[in-house]
Order: sequence, then C-alpha cells, then structure tokens
Amino acid sequence: MEYLILFIFHILKTEVIEINAEIIKKLADTAISAREFSYSPYSNFKVGAALLCDDDSIYTGCNIENAAFSPTNCAERTAFFKAVSEGKASFKAIAVAHTYPCGVCLQVMTEFCEPESFYVVIVEIDGNCKIHTLSELLPKAFR
Ligand SMILES: [Zn+2]
Repeated sequence: MEYLILFIFHILKTEVIEINAEIIKKLADTAISAREFSYSPYSNFKVGAALLCDDDSIYTGCNIENAAFSPTNCAERTAFFKAVSEGKASFKAIAVAHTYPCGVCLQVMTEFCEPESFYVVIVEIDGNCKIHTLSELLPKAFR
C-alpha cells in the first residue's frame, strides 16, 4: 500500500498532534478487516471503520443494514457507539474503507471530536489513503 501522506503534523494553537504512517496503515488495514462483518444484504456495499482513541486503543465498526432502512447503522457510527458505550471520550482519527462518511456520521463525530484536529482517513479500494480533518468534511456542523 502506498500512502499519499506519510506524516501529518497539525498545529492547533499550541497543541501539535502527530499521527505517523505506521498508525495510518494499521488503521487502514483494520478498517478493511472490519468490512468482513458488514451486514449489508440490501446494498451489498460493505463498509468498515477503525476509530483511534486518545489512549491509542482502536474500536472497529461495520455497516449494519435493516429492511426498514432507518434503523440501518453506518460503520463509523458503530465504531463510535461501541467506543463511547465502553467509556471512551477522546478520539484522534477514524479510517473508513472504502467510502466517505455520510452527513449523519460526520455529525456524530462532531459531537465527540474537535473538528480541526480529528482526522478522517478515507481508505480507497487501491489502498491509497486520503486524509481530511473533520472540519474539512463538515465545515458548518450543527453545534
Ligand atoms: Zn454514515
């Protein structure tokens, strides 16, 4: 796998957040693996997510569909809800294979993360990663 960005240095006031290439690769690989558990009989579109917490633990998620569309849960929200339900409250990044998060998931991320310093890693089918801040993907979030 090649990664477009090997190191990220983000300066937010006096805080410097660094996520190195090894961690990005681990997150990307974990998101790809999480797709295995996708329950997506209606769309046949498997999505996996890997959420990196401040303590460097990783929570995974997959999309879980339902015949009555609205109970369907995205991979990203599955990972967040698993982590929050187990007491995690601070997060560094999430990797998603192989799509961009929907608006609902971006709003959930906004509830728990700093938009300027939380990273969303999009793992493309060819293995390349595109890295964005949450604020780039949802600049006018409801707060
Ligand atoms: Zn979503």
